[in-house]
Amino acid sequence: MRQEFSSGSDFNRETHRSKFPQSLKEQAREESGMICADCGIQIRSKDQAQSHHRLCQCQGGAGNRVNLVILCGEDLNDCHEKWDKKALEEGIIFPNIPINECPPELVGNRNKFQKTIRRFNLD
Ligand SMILES: [Zn+2]
Repeated sequence: MRQEFSSGSDFNRETHRSKFPQSLKEQAREESGMICADCGIQIRSKDQAQSHHRLCQCQGGAGNRVNLVILCGEDLNDCHEKWDKKALEEGIIFPNIPINECPPELVGNRNKFQKTIRRFNLD
């Protein structure tokens, strides 16, 4: 069941789609044991084991393994959407790290990342 966000949010899932290579997603799913890294639910369907950019691509996040975490999707607890929102609206990346303390290995594009830090007034 798809639910839209209520108004007042500029969050738009389509504008920051992840670009992890398929093989990396498969690897991460396997390593996760199909367990959501946030709520711990056992995920039964591959579609619901969603690849999440800890640091969003639009904020300079890299498409590498360390930036990829498996979260459950919208038919479960929708941790994916929850962490997308936290990253984009609050500057908090999984698992609850302020974006200005983001581990450097998660950053793929330093320029975008610096702009994000400035946007959240954290420097
Ligand atoms: Zn979850």
